[in-house]
Amino acid sequence: MRQFACFLAAALVAAAPAHAQDLAAQAAGVRDKALADSTAWTIVESLTSEVGARPVGAPAMERARDWGVATLIALGFENVHVEPFTTKAWIRGEEAAEVVGPWPQKLQILGLGNSAPTPTGGLTAEIALFRTYQALLDQPPGALKGKIAVVTQAMPRTKDASSYGASVAWRTTGPLEAARRGAVGYLVRSISTADSRLPHTGLSDPAGIPAAALSPPDAEQLERLAARGRPVTVRLVMSSRVIAAAPAWNVVGEIRGSERPDEVIVVGGHLDSWDPGTGAIDDGAGVAITTAAARIAGLPQRPKRTLRVVMWGSEEQGGSGAAYGRAHQDEVARIVVAGEADLGAGRVWRAALPAGGLDHPAMRAFAATVAPIGVPMMREPPRYGGSDIQALIAAGAPCFLFGQDASRYFDLHHSADDTLDKIDPADLSQVVAVWASFLYLAANSDVDFRAAKPTR
Ligand code: ZN
Ligand code: ZN
Repeated sequence: MRQFACFLAAALVAAAPAHAQDLAAQAAGVRDKALADSTAWTIVESLTSEVGARPVGAPAMERARDWGVATLIALGFENVHVEPFTTKAWIRGEEAAEVVGPWPQKLQILGLGNSAPTPTGGLTAEIALFRTYQALLDQPPGALKGKIAVVTQAMPRTKDASSYGASVAWRTTGPLEAARRGAVGYLVRSISTADSRLPHTGLSDPAGIPAAALSPPDAEQLERLAARGRPVTVRLVMSSRVIAAAPAWNVVGEIRGSERPDEVIVVGGHLDSWDPGTGAIDDGAGVAITTAAARIAGLPQRPKRTLRVVMWGSEEQGGSGAAYGRAHQDEVARIVVAGEADLGAGRVWRAALPAGGLDHPAMRAFAATVAPIGVPMMREPPRYGGSDIQALIAAGAPCFLFGQDASRYFDLHHSADDTLDKIDPADLSQVVAVWASFLYLAANSDVDFRAAKPTR
């Protein structure tokens, strides 16, 4: 026991040289400053009020670009610029759905990104309803000929967002699987944990058939009608158009490092959103969290390494991460670490650093800084960093992930309910405090996330 105590004392001394203690104290100051700071709230309030919904391909995206540039400049960022690219954009037109018979009534739907339009005059067909996605997959080719396939499986609520990964295929590949079996249309219960009658949209793989999300209560209503044993007929009227090469932009700002400006820490959220809400939690919050955190960590006293904030311009329909990866492939070796905030504004409840990250005193200081605000360190490195940094990660950039409480996220995500009032300012500040503490320590130390040592 005594031997162990000696070992522990020696380990503590070794772990905390004077400058590490200074860093820890400074990081605690950054954390406390962030907890009392309202910059993130101001940013997301401004974006959702002055721009609103930001679907790629819409004129609002240009206003979002200009807003991003003006916001970064006003907050004191340098090298503020726009990196243009083009991407495919699916743009929603008019949409309506109703049960034609035997019990006529309206249905609440929202078309999925990449849905085909219905023929002029609409599409009327009998439904084939499946209470699980697997039951649809179990159908042989041709089994759904001429039918509108309906999948009504409910997404469970989870704190770690794992249920989204387990259910999102019902939306993304469901239309294609239905079309392969002969279906002429596809309806899926929204990938949602709400009981609201607002449907939730999202991207689907192009399948050549109209595809839409039902609100959860409408999905349950169709279950009840189908259970009555008589054929149920539904009529869909959906229009949309596609821009093959829509203009899009990644908006960038930096706080240049004072000693090693070529070593860059890349963080951000995505500026685009789906169209029904105002993109507050997805992903105005992520833009606000990372921008505010970089400013709090990097100003007024400039960090040693460069902090770069990117507002990615087409996450929902894809394209911004690939464009960023292409434009920065020669720079990957100089990227210290990358992170994307794209899980709303709920509190951070766990953090995952690149493998071996906690071997460095600066990252042990990070763990000590955020433990009092409810953030333990995970033992495993993140398996995923965010879709907009996926190309950087694939090219070798280390990534971190701050797990936010996603319990309520999928009540709101991709629906008309994704609005500013759903963000709790105190929760938002906690998230900013975690990010700012990390950015401060990563940018003011020599931590090398590529120098992973074998786990002890
Ligand atoms: Zn998002
Ligand atoms: Zn999204």
